[in-house]
Amino acid sequence: MRLVLLGPPGAGKGTQAERLAARRGVAALSTGEMLRAAVSEGSSLGKRAKAVIERGELVSDDVMIAIVAERIRQPDCVDGFILDGFPRTVAQARALDAMLQENGVRLDCVVEISVDEDFLIGRIETRAKETGGARADDNVETLKKRMAVYRQQTAPVSDYYRHNKMLITVDGVGSKDEVTAAIETAIGAVARV
Ligand code: AMP
Repeated sequence: MRLVLLGPPGAGKGTQAERLAARRGVAALSTGEMLRAAVSEGSSLGKRAKAVIERGELVSDDVMIAIVAERIRQPDCVDGFILDGFPRTVAQARALDAMLQENGVRLDCVVEISVDEDFLIGRIETRAKETGGARADDNVETLKKRMAVYRQQTAPVSDYYRHNKMLITVDGVGSKDEVTAAIETAIGAVARV
């Protein structure tokens, strides 16, 4: 199964990606986690990405596309993957299509987890408290910037997949189990997975 999870910051993409991937025995790929790992390692990528992440902006398409192209070539992605946090721009979406086409595969579907912005601010505040501020970008100021970036650069990705008839939208307000169930129902209806 090859799936993309879309949704604004705090929508629950990471949690749901992990759950769906574990159930299907495929890899959950979070580009945010990959970047945070690079930042903690202090690699040259991490050094370049740190300030961008802390400002709530996006790391460049070239860098992100190269990271994902390399990652999905790994053996644990042969049977599929759940992408969380990529693509975040239409250029990334087009690049992903090209990568998959080169390998003779395609996405099964794209699930957008839809959550109202006011609700998200409360959720991110809770996450910041629960994780003791482990994420430098989990604060209201950066969150507002991330949401603006989402509206400007990532919302067009939903339109891109809607146009390609791949997009399913699921209500992301509810318990983790309710959202997982809603995603499972939605993908069960469209994909043979
Ligand atoms: P996330 O954990 O998905 O919320 O990502 C955290 C931060 O990492 C984002 O706010 C961006 O700065 C950066 N990032 C993650 N994925 C991407 C991507 N596909 N393109 C550009 N920047 C990204």
